[in-house]
Amino acid sequence: MLDHLTYTAPEPKVIAGAKGDWELVIGLEVHAQVASNAKLFSGASTAFGAEPNSNVSFVDAAMPGMLPVINEFCVEQAVRTGLGLNAAINLFSAFDRKNYFYPDLPQGYQISQLYHPIVGEGEIIVDMAPGIARRVRIERIHLEQDAGKSIHDMDPNLSFVDLNRTGVALMEIVSRPDIRGPEEAAAYVGKLRQIMRYLGTCDGNMQEGSLRADVNVSVCKPGAYERFVETGDFSHLGTRCEIKNMNSMRFIQQAVEYEARRQIAIIEDGGEVVQETRLYDPDKGETRSMRSKEDAHDYRYFPDPDLLPLEIEQAWVDGIAAAMPELPDAKKARFVRELGLSEYDAGVLTAEVENADYFEAVAQGRDGKQAANWVINELFGRLNKQGLAIADSPVSAAQLGGVIDLIASGEISGKMAKDLFEIVWTEGGDPAEIAAARGMKQVTDLGAIEAAVDEIIAANPAQVEKARANPKLAGWFVGQVLKATGGKANPAAVQELVAKKLGG
Ligand code: ADP
Ligand code: MG
Repeated sequence: MLDHLTYTAPEPKVIAGAKGDWELVIGLEVHAQVASNAKLFSGASTAFGAEPNSNVSFVDAAMPGMLPVINEFCVEQAVRTGLGLNAAINLFSAFDRKNYFYPDLPQGYQISQLYHPIVGEGEIIVDMAPGIARRVRIERIHLEQDAGKSIHDMDPNLSFVDLNRTGVALMEIVSRPDIRGPEEAAAYVGKLRQIMRYLGTCDGNMQEGSLRADVNVSVCKPGAYERFVETGDFSHLGTRCEIKNMNSMRFIQQAVEYEARRQIAIIEDGGEVVQETRLYDPDKGETRSMRSKEDAHDYRYFPDPDLLPLEIEQAWVDGIAAAMPELPDAKKARFVRELGLSEYDAGVLTAEVENADYFEAVAQGRDGKQAANWVINELFGRLNKQGLAIADSPVSAAQLGGVIDLIASGEISGKMAKDLFEIVWTEGGDPAEIAAARGMKQVTDLGAIEAAVDEIIAANPAQVEKARANPKLAGWFVGQVLKATGGKANPAAVQELVAKKLGG
């Protein structure tokens, strides 16, 4: 929850068709690979990038007589993810066989949870801008096995299969159709990814396929979605198409936009949208038909007789709940509330938990806003420029804190601090020692500053006349004094003295 932060819902995206306005309705099925070293029903490794078919146990290869054994760690991660989405945890769940033939699915069926998923209804707050967020309802999360990979481009005449991924644990996170635009769809995936990375339940690596989304899109006339929400009746919505296996936020946005326009054109032309599964081609920027949409009954789901229903205890769930880390929304709200940060800055600092931890170490015992400015502008700016992660930052939180302390105590000016930061970045070392060794010390001795101010004022009578008539020109004197003192005079003290002298 956003805690004390209040928000309003964003306007739904409206697309103007040839014959009127249309709105989008989007629901996502996200497949998130559980961050587990072993598979869901076997002890085989899940390491990415291993030699093809080297991480395949007899269970994964569906050898006759092999039996699946549930991996408790994976169950725990699904429960933690559910708790992270404020969802109901089902103490009773069960596994079903989803039957279909595919060369990379040796069993001839996928073990999934159709009738009794482990996690029930929850929600996600998807931030769109400070103060603007969408609440998206989660329908369910179920555990299921991943399939292997067929490889068709290694040989002109042969296809290959790599079963390393076969049996890897996936959490399928199904949203209600509450997402109302392309940006929201991407932001929803981003928020889900962020929460799971905070929890450590999924690494969120979209390039490696650890997180992929099936994006369901339909279009309707303004007002129809509100009637659907009121009644729960899907017939108020348009027919949806499902865009399969999206693994990039940018492509999700592009695909949704294209697909909505395609459907609008069909309907306005007097045609009907066919419910089907489509693929997005990023090179062409188009979606194209993959297969007509199958229904659940086509898969002949039935309870897997090899696996007992999964019964977990409330006390176990309570123990997991008690050990949950602080999640992004709570952390962000706390940064706003306790450290006085803007919602925007708090959002930037909490994007990744490592960033938030670093910032908190810097802010500890210091001014929160000043720490935030330094971390966001100087540190992140520099890290981004060099393509470095926070873990590889040459400047530690303690070192950055040391620089800030020297500013706070008035020993160095903001300008000197930037130079000092630069030195610590490239050469390392203790900021206070470096400042002392290099004579970086601003003059706070008021007598010395006053002498410099007097000198400049005496040497420039014409400027003094002008500045007395127009106080805005006092800045020129401040600049002259700073220059004369080699940038070492405390700017605040100079400003005060200049104002006093010119005024009198
Ligand atoms: P399946 O698993 O067969 O694809 P589900 O009923 O589980 O079907 O729905 C899948 C997703 O499609 C859900 O995220 C749901 O919110 C979304 N969805 C359902 N109807 C619509 C619709 N008319 N427009 C957009 N999304 C929809
Ligand atoms: Mg689907």
